[in-house]
Amino acid sequence: MLHNYTIPPKTFFEIASFGYLLVLYLISFNDSNRERIRSYKYFRFLETNMLLALVVSILTYVFSYPELGTPIAVCTVLRTMDSIMCVMASRIFVIYLMEYVDNDKRYKWVGIVGNVLFLTYFVLMLLNLPFKFILWYAPDGTYMHGTLFVPIVFSTPVYYLTSGIIMLIIRMKTLGSREQLALSVASLITLLGTVIQAATDGAILLSLPFGTAGIFVLYFSLETADYHDLIKSNEKLIIAEQDAVKANRAKSDFLASMSHEIRTPLNAVLGMDELIISEVGENKPVEPAAAARIREYADNIKDAGQILLSVINDILDLTKVESGKMEINAAPYKLHELTDDIDTLIRIKAEQKELNYIQKIDPSIPDHLIGDELRIRQIMINLLNNAVKYTDSGEVRLEVSSQGVTEDTVNLCISVEDTGIGIKSEDIPKLFGDYQRFNEEHNRGIEGTGLGLSIVKRMIGLMNGQIRVSSEYGKGSTFTVTIPQTINREVPEGADGSDGQDARVEIKPYLTPDCEYLVVDDNKVNLIIASRFLDVLTGRVETALSGPEALKKMKEKKYDIIFMDHMMPGMNGVQTRKNAMEDPDNLNIGTPMIMMTANALRGVREEYLEMGFSDYLSKPLDINELKRVVRLNLPQEKIKEA
Ligand code: ADP
Repeated sequence: MLHNYTIPPKTFFEIASFGYLLVLYLISFNDSNRERIRSYKYFRFLETNMLLALVVSILTYVFSYPELGTPIAVCTVLRTMDSIMCVMASRIFVIYLMEYVDNDKRYKWVGIVGNVLFLTYFVLMLLNLPFKFILWYAPDGTYMHGTLFVPIVFSTPVYYLTSGIIMLIIRMKTLGSREQLALSVASLITLLGTVIQAATDGAILLSLPFGTAGIFVLYFSLETADYHDLIKSNEKLIIAEQDAVKANRAKSDFLASMSHEIRTPLNAVLGMDELIISEVGENKPVEPAAAARIREYADNIKDAGQILLSVINDILDLTKVESGKMEINAAPYKLHELTDDIDTLIRIKAEQKELNYIQKIDPSIPDHLIGDELRIRQIMINLLNNAVKYTDSGEVRLEVSSQGVTEDTVNLCISVEDTGIGIKSEDIPKLFGDYQRFNEEHNRGIEGTGLGLSIVKRMIGLMNGQIRVSSEYGKGSTFTVTIPQTINREVPEGADGSDGQDARVEIKPYLTPDCEYLVVDDNKVNLIIASRFLDVLTGRVETALSGPEALKKMKEKKYDIIFMDHMMPGMNGVQTRKNAMEDPDNLNIGTPMIMMTANALRGVREEYLEMGFSDYLSKPLDINELKRVVRLNLPQEKIKEA
């Protein structure tokens, strides 16, 4: 018997397919290090399953013949496994297909029905082993089908493949043209193989070979390493493009918002200025009544200027936090001085709106602390300004208490409460985002950039603190901030602890009648402002519009103080100083030179001092700050107490 045996020709396609698929499997195995896309995982399942299905099928059709002496039980198990592997191949094919056509997982039920069906099929195949109602071997070794064979063994893969093709048609539009073609061709070939095999009652074994052809189509159109790399780079490009669009939109929003915020106070400045010009007129004497009005206009200009300055400071702060340049500089400070200052500042604003301002500081908090006083002040002022801005009646309350005091640290707990318009619960999660402003219809007249809270939140983050907000729309809001601070144990409680250099020390009035000042700036208005401010001290003020002009003057006269701008065309202030120091004819080598600049970033003061400048003043110029610096830099004999 055995020597007459030939391999059944109907398995030839399967044997050939096994060979091809093995090669493909090894090729694709080799490039497994690439950046994979999700579908590839299922493609590998499909490949592996198809290889195993081919092996089992070939073994079944080549060896499972009782005539060959193969035990009937082995033949039955092989047949059963063959059938199960074929159905599994079509199941995995559809799972793979769904990765493409249903990547948003809308049609989860298709997968669930598929799994239930597979389980039922599997159980029936197991039951078939003892009960023999689908396929079995007769005692004489003849292979038999029951009537349930076709509905169960063939219909299941046909169901999978047709449902997959229907899903493919439904979702065709969501696919690219390459995917459309590859998936359609692969599905149809696989289905065709199964149908031919069923129609010929298994006379030609085409279901797995056609499935293998489908796998080839899929591999070379959708699953090669190059194609995956291309898809990944395309995805990155799309994300980069979206980011660029977003960044551009944010920039436009920012410009629109800033333009509005800057124009509003600027409008006040120019409008008020126009009114002053019309009141004064050419050679028109100013009447007392007009003087009062002019004073009012000037006050309005000052307010608008302050608003402009705060907008610019906000932008600077935000840029600094965003570029990681904002640093927290811890230094000793006294809590009561900080809260006293805030009391003065906020009480005035609250009273202007007829609001009650209540400030409660827990006396048990250690007064001498180490931390970034400036930032804590900024946080408190921001929250309190908002509380005043967004409250029409009632009260604004600041409470400072302490939590978790240890030997060295204390958690400052700052709570700002108001009885204002409140914040809608849906707006609270967006509250700390950039440029977020809410309740626009109510807030139309209220100045603001929507940057304050975002900066506050980031500054608190830099200090390892936290901020919480609770609010009832229409009733009011409470912002609670906790910030850990170090307790300054070097200064005994109750002692002053001042280093005598406190910038907020009141400047006693004084005059400098014998002093010669030189102010260097390329901007004429800045020269006028500085000169007029210095006039208050009496003394003589000379000006220079450029570095070379200043150098010339420095050779002609010895001054008591020189004020130098930084950014000037041609020779800038730093260069001018350098040249002056190297000039043997310069009469002002020892004269204090003060940097007076609009470069107001934190840390620049130290940089200018390192360059050799005696002191630093930022623009816009504050007259009290100017007086303080002049006094510090003049010898005692030049100062006459007023
Ligand atoms: P700005 O006040 O400059 O608009 P903020 O970032 O400080 O920007 O605040 C963002 C928004 O949050 C405000 O525009 C306002 O709608 C809302 N908001 C902030 N604080 C309060 C408050 N205390 N009461 C009601 N709304 C507030």
